[in-house]
Amino acid sequence: NRQITLASRPVGAPTASDFKMLETAVSAPAEGQVLLRNLYLSLDPYMRGRMSDAPSYAAPVGIGEVMGAGTVARVETSRHPDYRVGDLVLAYGGWQDFTLSDGSGVSRLGADMARPSLALGVLGMPGFTAYMGLLDIGQPKAGDTVVVAAASGAVGSVVGQIAKLKGCRIVGIAGGAEKCRYVIDELGFDDCIDHRAGDFPARLAAACADGIDVYFENVGGAVFDAVLPLLNPKARIPVCGLVANYNDTALPPGPDRLGLLARTLLTRRIKMQGFIIFDDYGDRYGEFLAVMADWVRDGKIKYREDIVDGLENAPQAFIGLLEGRNFGKLVVRIATS
Ligand code: NDP
Repeated sequence: NRQITLASRPVGAPTASDFKMLETAVSAPAEGQVLLRNLYLSLDPYMRGRMSDAPSYAAPVGIGEVMGAGTVARVETSRHPDYRVGDLVLAYGGWQDFTLSDGSGVSRLGADMARPSLALGVLGMPGFTAYMGLLDIGQPKAGDTVVVAAASGAVGSVVGQIAKLKGCRIVGIAGGAEKCRYVIDELGFDDCIDHRAGDFPARLAAACADGIDVYFENVGGAVFDAVLPLLNPKARIPVCGLVANYNDTALPPGPDRLGLLARTLLTRRIKMQGFIIFDDYGDRYGEFLAVMADWVRDGKIKYREDIVDGLENAPQAFIGLLEGRNFGKLVVRIATS
């Protein structure tokens, strides 16, 4: 059983030496346990937080422990009454070939699932995040201008497409011309601005001539600086993630802009609210899945996966995720059946 463990806590961007691959024997399940063979492993930005021991909403991965991750797995051996050999399941199996589980946090996926990896993306945690954050906190109304960054990624791509279904004008922000083209041509956004372009703030302002009513915050940093002056009175900001800051070791240089932020929120009566998807909305997963499965089946919501082959390539793929080297929902294929 190959396992990728946390070797050291990164300072700044993670490097290959922060991870260590171990080979261990595969254990047989005890009574009440199930042995899972992990097929697909989800790589997500939140994992950077778990590599750090700074206080957060979840406990960090310990040094020497297997990196955690959502997985799509097949039941290899079962001594658990609810699972049979061959069942396809969604689990929190971690960065490893096999996982021994007592069934907690494991749910069965329909045998008819044509593309099981989608349970880690558009039909899983990232899709759920987009759905709840946008609809519950963002409260988009027809005619609103909605802006989302990391727009070609797992969460942002779904945010924009749902907003479009709700009759909004949707402006994406993405890194590079290829991603921007995809966001407009394939996902149907009204516009998409490259945050790496030198005149990014001016281009964003031009694309949002009527201001911004909903800003779905995925990245923070320089993107938020460009968004702030464009926010309309009564704008809503679901704070989902701040991926531009995850590798930071100190506050950014420059003047303190906290006063500017507070004054903007006050004078324009803006609502800014953070959320942690399963903590805040766990009881609404079924509702999400029913709606999203229909939308995906009917082609109303499109998705793009960035599939990397081989467990051994997970560390490099994860490092790239924090730099925008992924194009679509990043998934590692560990095994095919
Ligand atoms: P993505 O698939 O969108 O991948 C991350 C993307 O972030 C990169 O591809 C890159 O896109 C963008 N990015 C990285 N660095 C920067 C930067 N400095 N400035 C601007 N963009 C940058 O990831 P996800 O869709 O999985 O996650 C999106 C966000 O949602 C993350 O912040 C994540 O932590 C958050 N999240 C929060 C949850 C919650 O419960 N609150 C649950 C799930 C996700 P590009 O090349 O286009 O810049």
